[in-house]
Amino acid sequence: MSNNNNVLTLSAPLSGPVLALNSVPDEVFASGAMGDGIAIDPLNDCLQAPCDGVIIHVARTGHALTIRADNGAEVLMHVGIDTVELNGEGFALLVKEGARVSQGQALVRFDLDRIARQCKSLVSLIILTNSDRFELTPVPLKTVKVGEPLMHIAARSTATVQAAVDNSNCEAGSEASASVRITHRGGLHARPAALIRKTAQGFSSQSHLHFADKSASCDSLIGLMGLGIGEGDEVRVSCRGKDAEAALQGLLAALSVAVSEAHHAPVVAAAPRRASVETDVLQGVCAAPGLVCGPLFRLTGIELPQDTGNHSAAEQQQRLDTALEQVRDEIHSTLEHARQRKNVEEEDIFAAHLALLEDPALLEAASAAIAHGSAATHAWRDAIQAQCAVLLALGKPLFAERANDLRDLQQRVLRALLGEAWHFELPAGSIVSAHELTPSDLLQLSEQQAVGICMAEGGATSHVAILARGKGLPCVVALGAEVLDVPQGQRVVLDAVNGRLELAPTDARHAEVQQIRDAQKLRCQQQQAQAQQPARTTDGVSIEIAANVASSSEARLAFENGADGVGLLRTEFLFVDRRTAPDEQEQRQAYQAVLDAMGDKSVIIRTIDVGGDKQLDYLPLPVEANPVLGLRGIRLAQVRPELLDQQLRALLQVSPLARCRILLPMVSEVDELLQIRQRLDELCVELKLTQRPELGVMIEVPAAALMAEQLAEHADFLSIGTNDLSQYTLAMDRDHAGLAARVDALHPALLRLIAQTCAGAAKHGRWVGVCGALASDPLATPVLVGLGVSELSVSPPQIGEIKDRVRHLDAAQCRQLSLELLDLSSAKAVRHACQHHWPLS
Ligand code: PEP
Ligand code: MG
Repeated sequence: MSNNNNVLTLSAPLSGPVLALNSVPDEVFASGAMGDGIAIDPLNDCLQAPCDGVIIHVARTGHALTIRADNGAEVLMHVGIDTVELNGEGFALLVKEGARVSQGQALVRFDLDRIARQCKSLVSLIILTNSDRFELTPVPLKTVKVGEPLMHIAARSTATVQAAVDNSNCEAGSEASASVRITHRGGLHARPAALIRKTAQGFSSQSHLHFADKSASCDSLIGLMGLGIGEGDEVRVSCRGKDAEAALQGLLAALSVAVSEAHHAPVVAAAPRRASVETDVLQGVCAAPGLVCGPLFRLTGIELPQDTGNHSAAEQQQRLDTALEQVRDEIHSTLEHARQRKNVEEEDIFAAHLALLEDPALLEAASAAIAHGSAATHAWRDAIQAQCAVLLALGKPLFAERANDLRDLQQRVLRALLGEAWHFELPAGSIVSAHELTPSDLLQLSEQQAVGICMAEGGATSHVAILARGKGLPCVVALGAEVLDVPQGQRVVLDAVNGRLELAPTDARHAEVQQIRDAQKLRCQQQQAQAQQPARTTDGVSIEIAANVASSSEARLAFENGADGVGLLRTEFLFVDRRTAPDEQEQRQAYQAVLDAMGDKSVIIRTIDVGGDKQLDYLPLPVEANPVLGLRGIRLAQVRPELLDQQLRALLQVSPLARCRILLPMVSEVDELLQIRQRLDELCVELKLTQRPELGVMIEVPAAALMAEQLAEHADFLSIGTNDLSQYTLAMDRDHAGLAARVDALHPALLRLIAQTCAGAAKHGRWVGVCGALASDPLATPVLVGLGVSELSVSPPQIGEIKDRVRHLDAAQCRQLSLELLDLSSAKAVRHACQHHWPLS
C-alpha cells in the first residue's frame, strides 16, 4: 500500500481475473447501489487485507467484511455471490470485528470448491462503500495476483463532497419504495428478520416494511416478525434518507434471498432418535429409572407474585438495565463459544436472542411500564408476554417457535433480576417437561415434589441426570422438541427405564402403572429392610456400597438408606446456586455437615470439578474453544491454584480427619498427583496435623486408566468415573442428545480400561471403586464385581437394590464370565450377555 498525496493504493485481496462491476452476475452489486468497486474471480482461497485499517463489520456468516482504511475509506469485501446462503459453512473467519489489521493479513479462508458447487458464483466484490467521500480509480489489469496494486482511492475535493452532501441533503426527505415477494422459507421469522435488520443498519436511511395494514421499522426484529409475513407474501419496503435508494436495493436483495430452514435445527443437532412406532408415545433415553404417571407441567417461566406497585421508576429502570447487561454478557460469551466451535446453528440462535434482547419494541414497552410504577421484573415479563401474544396470534408454527425464544429471554432476565430468590410453583405430583434443565432447576423441582422429568435435549450422563438419579426422580432426556408441545396438565406416563413418554395413557394403563409401582414399592421395602447390612456375595466377597451425594441432606438420606459411606461428594454442587464464592470457613462447615450426617462411615470428598458442562456463577472461567478438553477438574489448579489451596485447607480441618478421604478429578498423569500430594503434606505441617487423609485419584480419562498401575503406586485408592471415561474413550459428548443411547459404559473398550485399572491397583494393594453412573446400573453390578471393583458408589435411592443384587452373585463366576465380555463387539452385545448370565427380574 502506498499513501502519497492522499492517494491510497489498495492491493488485491485475492488472485484471479479482474472484472468490471457491471459484469458481475448480481443486479444489486452490478448497479453500483452498494458503491463503486471492482470484482475478482478468485483462484486462491484466502482473502487478504487490501490495506492497513480496522475491520468495522464482519458478516455473521463470514462471507463478507468491511475494512476502514486510515484515510477513512470504507471497503467492503464480499466473497462470492449469494454466499450468505452457506450460512458460514465453508468460511473460516480469521479476524474479529474491531480488529486492527495490516495490509496482506489473512482475513477469511474459504472453501473454493464448495462455493463453486453450491453458490451462484465465486466472483468476489471489492466495493468502496463511502463513494460519496472517495473516488476510485482501478489499475487497468486483466488479472491480478494477491498483494499487487488493484486500485487507487483518493478523497474527493471538499467542493465535490460538499456538492454530494448538498445533493444528499436535498434528498434527505426523499423516499424510495418498492414491493417484493418474500422467498424466505417459512416467511419472515427470526433469522431472515435479523438479516433484514442487519441490512437496514448498514444504511443511514430509516426503513420500514409494510404488510396488510401494518408497518414495522426494519430496526425492530420483533416488529418485523410481528407483521406475520409468510412465504410468498408481497410486502412494500420504504426507505427515507440520504441513501434511500441504496438501502432499498440492499433490502430488496435481502428480502428475496431464501434462507434455508435446515439451519433452524435445535442447538444440539438432533441425531437420529429412536423413532417411535407407536402413536402418542415420545421416545427418548433413560437418564434416571422409574415408572410414574401424573399431570405434565411445562416449565417455561418464573411465576411472579402480585406486583405491589409504587416503585421508584429510576431504581427499577436501573435494575432492569443491570440485568439486561448481565444477560447480554452471558449471551455474548455463549456466542463467542459457538463461534470458536464454528457451531453456526448455535451462533444463529444466540445472535437472534441478542438481537431480541436489544429490540426497541421490547425495551420501550418495559420502560414505559416501569415509568407507570411497575417493578422491573413485571415490566419485563409483561413486555415479553405481549410480544409472545402477537406472535402466537399469527397462528404460524415458525412464529410460535420464536415466542419460545422470547420466553427463554424472559426467564434469563428474570433470573438475573431475582438472583437467588427466584422460584416457581409446581403442582405436587407433576411430571415436568422442559427444553433442558440446569442443576439448580433440578434441585428446586425435586424440593417441590416433582415425580418425573422429561427433557427435549440433554444426555443420560449429564449432571442434571446425575442429580435426578440422586433424587430417585425418573428422568428421560433427548425426547425432541415435541415434548414441549404437550399441553400443560395433560395426564402422561413416564416409563423412564424404557425412555418412553406416553402421551395418552388409557385408564387401564394408568391402573397398570399404579400396580407396577405398588409391586416395586413392595420389593423396594424388602430390599430396604436389608439395606443396613453389609453386602457380601454368595462366596463371601465384601462389596462396599457407598453413595454419591451433593449435599449434607442427601448424605443423611444415604445414611438412612444404608450407605456404607459416601463414595463421592461432588463439591461443585454444594455451591451451585451461589453468586459469591464460599470462603474457607463456609466450605469447612459444609464438608463437616456431610461427615456428621454419615455416623462413623467414611466420606470421599472430591475437589472442585468445574469446567466442561459444570459452570459456577461465582467462578467465571476463561473462554475455551473446547471446554470439555480444557481446564476442567484438577487442571483448574493451573490457573487458580489459590482455589485448590483454600479447599484443601477447609478439608484438612474437618473432624475426625480419618473419616475424610480426598479425591482428585480429571487426573491424567502421575505428576499432577505428586504435586498435590506434596502440597497436602505442606498444608498438614502448616496446620500442625500429624496425619494426612487418604488421597485418591479418579480414573475418568483413558490416560489415567492406562497409567493406573503408576498412579496406584502413589495414591491410596482409585475411583473410576465411568461418565467421563465413556465420553473420552468413545469420543462422544456425554450431554449429546443424539448420542445419548450410545454413550454406554458397558462398551467392551470401557470394560477393558476398568479391568486394566483393577489389575494396576492390585499390584500395589490398592482398592478400586466406581463412582460413575455405571455403578448404579444393576445390570453392570456382576461385571464390575467380576473385574475386581470392591466399592460401588451409587445414587442413594438405589443402595438397597444394588446390595440385594450383590448378595445374589457368585464372585468367582462373575470373574470368569466378565472376562469373556471384553471380547464382545459392542455395548449392546455386553448388555445382552449380562441379561443372559445374570438376569434382572
Ligand atoms: C464421572 O465422570 O463418572 C464422575 C463420577 O464425575 P462427574 O460425573 O461429576 O464428571
Ligand atoms: Mg467426571
